[in-house]
Amino acid sequence: MSERRRLVLAGSTGSIGRQAVDVLNAVPGRFEVVAIGSHSSVEVLAEQARSLRPRVVAVADDTRASDLEALVPAGTEVRAGSEALASIVSEGDVVLNGVVGFAGLGVTVAALEGGARLALANKESLIAGAPVVDKARQTEGAEIVPVDSEHCAIHQCLRSSTPEEVARLWITASGGPFRGRSLSDLASVSVEDALAHPTWKMGPKITVDSSTLMNKGLEVLEAHELFGIDFDRIGVVVHPQSVVHSMVEFRDGAVLAQLSKPDMRLPIGYALGYPERLDVAYGAIDWSALRSLDFELPDTETFSCLSLAYEAGRAGGSAPCWLNAANEVAVAAFLDGRLSWTDIASVAASALDRHEPSDLSTVDDVLEADRRAREVAMAAVRERELVA
Ligand code: MG
Repeated sequence: MSERRRLVLAGSTGSIGRQAVDVLNAVPGRFEVVAIGSHSSVEVLAEQARSLRPRVVAVADDTRASDLEALVPAGTEVRAGSEALASIVSEGDVVLNGVVGFAGLGVTVAALEGGARLALANKESLIAGAPVVDKARQTEGAEIVPVDSEHCAIHQCLRSSTPEEVARLWITASGGPFRGRSLSDLASVSVEDALAHPTWKMGPKITVDSSTLMNKGLEVLEAHELFGIDFDRIGVVVHPQSVVHSMVEFRDGAVLAQLSKPDMRLPIGYALGYPERLDVAYGAIDWSALRSLDFELPDTETFSCLSLAYEAGRAGGSAPCWLNAANEVAVAAFLDGRLSWTDIASVAASALDRHEPSDLSTVDDVLEADRRAREVAMAAVRERELVA
């Protein structure tokens, strides 16, 4: 076994963070958790601090700082405020970014600029801040190992090949809870319907994104950024069983795929342990129970968010940042009951139509583009707002 790695969990109380704690409990002594942090869930954070014993605990919402101080074990350093999460990153060699949405940008950039391994579950930071993240990735020692299951699969399939051999990436999609439905079927679906994902256990934002296929669109953008493959060579194929997590097609037509049960603890463990595999088989398939693997092409008319993502990716520059921001605004409004499910795509399309291209050289440039895109998207939400 190699020496213990110092681990930072950013977004430790969310779905990815809690599953990471599960992984750590399954491989005791393998990692030293030096810092954890989350947005505002101080009770869960304190409980994690009592079991993982990190030196530092951070909460982004500074109104919760004193509550956290009172709950953590004596001697634990508490940091609070908008910079707190990014500040704990320098404590470790491996940083898991499980923050939800664009708010994860600070952690992504700080981890890479610090020359750490970034176990990346936060695709939004990579997509919206691509030019800035690309620069940070050049730092010596910095590397990204994707936690997103599809990209983790592709990462595994690429381990035995050279870039020149790769013809295409195939990203698989479960199709979400509304696979096979038409737009008219979907006009009045509820938040509950959208949150009933057939195969994966995930947080609400990404589960809604899976129902619109925006998640798959964002994953196409993510794959382009991570692996440097152009959009014409990234395909999406619907695979309802979520057993094949993605595939790489080579120039001779050979296809390598990674298969396992849909359990996020496998890609989390892979990204933390890479290049070594952890000794806990979360993904092991029961071949006596698995009967079939089905594949079909996506319905991009009903699920137009997927096409919007290709459009934003091909436009490049600040367009992916705008798409991501508009989607976050639309999904939040949908979860609030203020927007219909079908209008999520319409708000995203409208923001992309009104995209004001800007140069993204610094984190501040990205924050400004994101802010402006949210303004435009919020106006689009108000035009479509449901009357209670
Ligand atoms: Mg995914």
